Amino acid sequence: MAAPPDRIAFTNGRIITMDPAFPSPDVVVIEKGRIAAVGERTLLAAHPDAALHDLRGRTLLPGFIDAHNHLSIAALQPLWADLSTVASMDELLRALADQAAREPEARWVRGTRWNEAAHGLVPDRRVLDALGLDRPIIVAHYSLHQCVVSSQGLDELQIGRTTPDPPGGTIVRDERGEPTGMLIERAWSAAHAQSMVAYRDPERWAELIAARARVLLRDGITCVHDAACSPAAETVYRAMARAGTLPISVLVMPHAEAILTNTVRLDGPLTGEGDEQVRVGPIKLFADGGVAPAIDACMGGQRASFGMRFTDLAENLTRAVAAGFRVAVHAMGNAGLVAALDAFARAARGRDRDHRFRIEHATLASPAQLKQIAALGAVGVVQPGFLDHMGRLVEDVRFDEEIWMPFGDLARAGVPLAASSDDPCAIYEPLRTAAHGATRRTGSGGILGPEQALGYEEWLRAYTAGAAYAGGQEHERGTLTPGKRADLVVLDGDLDPTNPPRVAQTWVGGRRVYASGSD
Ligand SMILES: [Zn+2]
Repeated sequence: MAAPPDRIAFTNGRIITMDPAFPSPDVVVIEKGRIAAVGERTLLAAHPDAALHDLRGRTLLPGFIDAHNHLSIAALQPLWADLSTVASMDELLRALADQAAREPEARWVRGTRWNEAAHGLVPDRRVLDALGLDRPIIVAHYSLHQCVVSSQGLDELQIGRTTPDPPGGTIVRDERGEPTGMLIERAWSAAHAQSMVAYRDPERWAELIAARARVLLRDGITCVHDAACSPAAETVYRAMARAGTLPISVLVMPHAEAILTNTVRLDGPLTGEGDEQVRVGPIKLFADGGVAPAIDACMGGQRASFGMRFTDLAENLTRAVAAGFRVAVHAMGNAGLVAALDAFARAARGRDRDHRFRIEHATLASPAQLKQIAALGAVGVVQPGFLDHMGRLVEDVRFDEEIWMPFGDLARAGVPLAASSDDPCAIYEPLRTAAHGATRRTGSGGILGPEQALGYEEWLRAYTAGAAYAGGQEHERGTLTPGKRADLVVLDGDLDPTNPPRVAQTWVGGRRVYASGSD
């Protein structure tokens, strides 16, 4: 690739810096990979040697930061049987048989993106056993919160008739008390970890992460927060950064190998350590389930309480904070939020520092809880794209007080918002998820809580300045401010959620790394 000119001046378009000090300048000058100057047209005269980049009426913004993305897992998806589009149990089984043939060396035959809400298919161990494979089979749910394994899988996990449910998990059993193969929430953590063993080869993993990152660049994403990063994945990211093969920046959110557990990695670098390419973010912890969020709320005056609470949150959160980490807590249901907010309040007591607690999801909350989040100075890391798949499931479920995906009220309560996708568990393209957040349109075409809509540009702010703040990266990215990285996105089309713009170009560190076909 030819070296880019030393200095480039972007002009003749709409420029949104996300920096209140100079929100819509005429010109942005970049130099040596960073923003050098932002100003009015006269700035061009001050930089006569800058190469002009004509935006041709398009919109220039900071590169998008996906504040909750499981890149290290999403990268591996192409290696597994994709069960998201199968239409029958026969097709599902054929996909698994093909998988076994394609990955003969893997100890587990792994299918992924199983979504019973889309096709109504719920396999059990007997259905999987009928394939007659010589290895255990795992059918992982798209949510990464449950799975179905074959009988051999149960054996390998040492799960039998007398095995008790682990705290925070359910081993589903039939009417005779035999495990069916379905493992919910923490009952699937070990199954996930064991079926991942064959996929830890650092070189293959690095290639797949790079490939997935290049897909994200096409959607304007220049940085992700890896929202449950295993120790093995952390090592791969650092090796890629050293080798210069990581196409985007990654904020790793350390998490145990066994997903959904609250064991804290106390050794190794702390939050904030690293560099712009790979930095350590907050430790990722879980307050409640994902397919079984903890909900305790009234419906027409009747109290309903269900879902999975993880009772080891508070002690591990306190330990992480005491060790010097920031923390991010998955809390989906309102009862999960109660636990997360209590744990935050306890950990903050007597510690005078910028905790910048993160609530991941906040999918169901009461108005009082929104005030509490604001009072703690916590950040809401939210997923407008959830309106698509989850919005469809909950649009007819109304609680007396609690609000589904209360993004508008969070913003009005003064909670800083960071936007994200939760890829590969949901749609990931920022320009598309932001459209759902602005229209509140669900996957069924309905509208869920229109009063919770936020403007399209507000979502793009949450994908840039907001996400940078959530990651403690506001000194390096998120706004077009002199000194920050020249990670940029150029959009074609109006910022109209009913007809969203398209990404025309993506720039990383002052280099154009993606241009759409029409560019
Ligand atoms: Zn997630």
